[in-house]
Amino acid sequence: MARYNGSLCRLCRRENLKLFLKGDRCFGDKCAFERRPYAPGQHGQRRGRKFSDYRLQLREKQKVKRIYGVLEKQFRGYYYRAERQKGITGINLLMLLECRLDNVVYRMGFAASRNQARQLVRHNHFMVNNRKVNIPSYRVSPGDVVEVREKSRTVQQILDAMETVVRRGIPPWIEIEKEKFRGVLKALPNREDLTMPIQEQLIVELYSK
Ligand code: SF4
Repeated sequence: MARYNGSLCRLCRRENLKLFLKGDRCFGDKCAFERRPYAPGQHGQRRGRKFSDYRLQLREKQKVKRIYGVLEKQFRGYYYRAERQKGITGINLLMLLECRLDNVVYRMGFAASRNQARQLVRHNHFMVNNRKVNIPSYRVSPGDVVEVREKSRTVQQILDAMETVVRRGIPPWIEIEKEKFRGVLKALPNREDLTMPIQEQLIVELYSK
């Protein structure tokens, strides 16, 4: 499957928002968005441009895809699933993304970024409810226990991430037992718990055309 291999910082600059794609670096002086907070490219610093509704909707969708590291086809699949569920489609969409195993691993602080979480999951470092799972998109349900496998508890990337997670903190819908290398997804987050500035209704408008 095609995956974006270009500069991650460029994505933040494009979305005009820190997307926290590079782990610890995002909290330091080396953050490219802090240094150059404008869009990349020749016309990146042009000001006062008016954007069409379509453009705003498209950018919102791209932003959320990039935050969660999901490609277009899979993202569209999440949207259709969210649409079929009861409730508000935009919020359902965010909840489906939040329940991805790579996102939960990141939220629990076992990885410094969602990209790293995806790679660690792929490399068989995690169990869900005592069963090995290596599918980043695996859907974690409330009550599920996510655990670092015994043999993976010396992996430096995981240990480093657990050290530095204090910078961003563990969200309230997750409970962690650090010494046991495991955590529980207590419940789905409330919409207001998700603090990234996302206007999910723009994505719904885009896909409902
Ligand atoms: Fe974005 Fe800054 Fe992190 Fe780069 S370092 S991915 S610009 S938040």
